[in-house]
This record gives sequence, C-alpha cells and structure tokens, in this order.
Amino acid sequence: MSQPNILFIMTDDHASHAMSCYGSKINKTPNMDSIANEGMLFNNCFCTNSICAPSRATILTGTHTHINGVKTLGDKLDNSILTFPALFRENGYQTGIVGKWHLGQGEKHWPKNFDYYNVLPGQGDYFNPVMVENGTSKVFEGYVTDIITDKCLEFLENRDEDKPFLLFCHHKAPHRPWLVSEEYRSHYIEDLPVPETFDDDYKNRAEAARRARMRVERDFNAVDLKIKTPEGYEPYDSLPVPDDISTLWYETLEGEKVTFSSKAQLKNWKYQRYMKEYLRCIDCVDDNIGRLLTYLEDNGLKDDTMVIYTSDQGFYLGDHGWYDKRFMYEQSLRMPLVIRYPSMIRPGSINDNMVLNLDFAQTLLDIAGIKQPKEMQGISFMNQLKGDHEAEVRKDMYYRYWMHLAHHNVAAHYGIRTKRYKLIFYYGKALGTSGSIDWNTDEEWELFDLEMDPNEMNNVYNRQEYSLIQAELKKRLYEIKAESKDDE
Ligand code: CA
Repeated sequence: MSQPNILFIMTDDHASHAMSCYGSKINKTPNMDSIANEGMLFNNCFCTNSICAPSRATILTGTHTHINGVKTLGDKLDNSILTFPALFRENGYQTGIVGKWHLGQGEKHWPKNFDYYNVLPGQGDYFNPVMVENGTSKVFEGYVTDIITDKCLEFLENRDEDKPFLLFCHHKAPHRPWLVSEEYRSHYIEDLPVPETFDDDYKNRAEAARRARMRVERDFNAVDLKIKTPEGYEPYDSLPVPDDISTLWYETLEGEKVTFSSKAQLKNWKYQRYMKEYLRCIDCVDDNIGRLLTYLEDNGLKDDTMVIYTSDQGFYLGDHGWYDKRFMYEQSLRMPLVIRYPSMIRPGSINDNMVLNLDFAQTLLDIAGIKQPKEMQGISFMNQLKGDHEAEVRKDMYYRYWMHLAHHNVAAHYGIRTKRYKLIFYYGKALGTSGSIDWNTDEEWELFDLEMDPNEMNNVYNRQEYSLIQAELKKRLYEIKAESKDDE
C-alpha cells in the first residue's frame, strides 16, 4: 500500500456525547457522522491525562505526560523531543499544522519539523485571532474556526503533489468561553434536555467529587453565561446561588432581564446558556469539516486520504452537575474518535476495544510504513482499523492528572481502567508539580463497576463483594504505573 495522506482534525473539549454518531440527545453533527459512517467509530478511546496541553503532547510524542514533560497546563513541549510528524517529514511527507497548539511559544516551543505552521499563541482568540505563521505574528480577520479551515484548504491547494501530506487541523472551538459565530446564534432555540446525573449529590463518592468547583449551579462566571457582570463581582468571578433568589436578576448581553422562580430553574437556565453556546460552536466546526471533506472529494483525494476526527479530551455537559474535565470519570476520559480511510477501513465499522491518545503516533507511523521508535509507549491499532479481530487489544490503561487543586479545585489522582472496572487513587499532594496548590487533602480511593454503574455514582471501594477484584486492580495499577515509567 502506498503512503496515505492524513488529515488529522482535532477540536478542543468536544465530548463524544455531543456527536450524533455517538447517540447525542442534544445535537446533530452530520459531517462528523459521515466520517464514522464511511469509516470506523471508536466507542472506547481514552486520554491518559484529561487536559489540553498534556493530551496534545501525548498525541505528538506517543509518550505519557510524565515522560514528554507536559504534565500540566503550565508545562511546555521542548521541540527537540521526538514527535511522529517529524518522522513523517523525514520519510517524505509534507507536513502542516494549523490552529491550536498550546504547547508553548518561542524558539524552543513553536512547532518544529513542519513544512508549514500557522498556530494560535496560548489559548488564542475566537474573533480576529493573532496567529503565528511560520514564526511571524499576524492578525487574521474573522471567526477562528472559519480561519483555521481556510488556512488548511490553502495548505491543501498549495501542496506538493509529489508527496503525501500530513495535515493537523486543530480547532480552538468548543473551548471555554464558548464564543459563537453570529450566523449560528439562531441554532438551539428550544431548551435542551438535561443529562441523567444533572442533580448528582456526590454521595457515595470520594470527597474529591464534592470538593470540585465546576458546578453548573454556582461556578460559572458572567463571561461564561454571556451576562453583564453583576454589581460586586468581576467578570471572571463565580456567581454563587444566594439563599433568597427572589430578588436575583441578571441582564443578558442580548439585553434581556431575567429573574428566577427557584434554584432548580436558575440551574437549568445556566445549563441552557452554557450548552447552547457550546453546541453552536460545534455546529460551526461540523460545517467547516464539511468544507474539508468536500475539498477532498472534489479533488480526487478521498480514497487516498485518511481523515481522523477527535478531540483532546472529553467534557462534562451537565453530567454530575458539572462542566469542564480533569477527572478520570467517563465523560472527560473518553475522546471522540472516528476515522475514514476507504482503502483500509470497512464503512460503518464500530470498534468497542480500548484505544488511547497514547496510541495515535504509533498507529499512524505503522500505517505510513515508518518504523515506530522504541521510546514510544503506545500500541498501534492499525490492525484493528483493518478489521483484524485477532489484533492485539489493550486490556487496561494508566491515567494520571497532576495539577493538585490548581483548577476547579480538582485533586490530583491516578488510576487504572479495565473494560469493566475503574480504580482511582486521590493521593492528596502537590508533589511539587507546577501550578499545583501545596495543600494536602486526605488520601481517597474510588472503585467503580462500570457494568453495574455506568454513571459512576456508587463508589464500591472496600465493599466485601469487590475485595478480590479490588486487590487485583490495585496490584495491576502499580504494575502499569511502573510499566509507564511513572515513579513519582
Ligand atoms: Ca482541551
């Protein structure tokens, strides 16, 4: 097989339960779905550290975040570290990256070994963003999702037709604060249903869940909610729920004054404000993916191009009463992953096996026929893409979130997930990790039986009936931690 072109499209914080091919109850994503329908959908793709920069570093390097040095949002990727795109370039590919980078700035951290790069510094802006194009800063007029797509189309249009290409199209959307392109404002007029665990009371769980400050009810700020900042607050202050809400009112940026009849209604109103903006951002991404797919089709590139759609981690869409990510719970652990490549993948394939962001680099090297470096820590799932049922399948995974209490008051933790179980250890310390808060919390364990309790509402740690499996998982957790070369 000749080397395929690869178009790797990744968004920021798009949970798979906001994709119709994953059974979303709140939106439709026809272009993302078409990649799945004409290719393979992965039901169990997970990240090893559920935040932006670490997941991106893992994808590029094929190593855990404690190996590539990007454990936290404060860490930067040293661009002398081996990445899979560098190997692609060495092996005859034309390589490009457009959009979100988030792995540091300056000579030591900008993308290296790319024939073309045009990336947002830091988080980047939704409107009229500054972007750094092959080392030069420029302002691009317009909405970021459209601009990123335009620049990707330009890359494709100007490509060297004698070489296969590897192009990363990395969207900023739908990252907080969910700023919407005007033409999508009319989407989602009707109210959306809330998830099953919207009113989670965090009983029967570790204190870590209750302690987290990412509740829809009380942790959004005025910028998130698109309201004028109420008197006595700053724009980025959380807006707590007063005891008496009969006198509470907000003025929306659209100029509407809203009042509330109950705390439940206030919580639902905040959820609707959040979720509608989030979904509008995704609608715009989906349309822009459609533009790329049309280009491939119109230019005879469809059969020879592997198209991948994923996001750097999942997100809470009101699940457990939350927004944001970080925890090892399902909604933030799981990444959407759909892959189309007509020369290799049977249309309409569904894959329930566990794969990780850690596996992407080696899988793509394998597909391009490039040797996988021994430093990489993943497993190629190319044979699964080919539909080989005997292919090597991952049985468990190691997860670690390092930023103790740094953002949203989420405690650092590590854990193991198997097909059926998840064991999490909140070790309660900063361990000198950058950005962490040096305040010790109690050590706590959580064990979930995902078959009996898919919503992770009941911690069964230390329950008699789970004592055997608990001991086995704990032993395997420390094995897999050592195998991952995490000695902290
Ligand atoms: Ca992210």
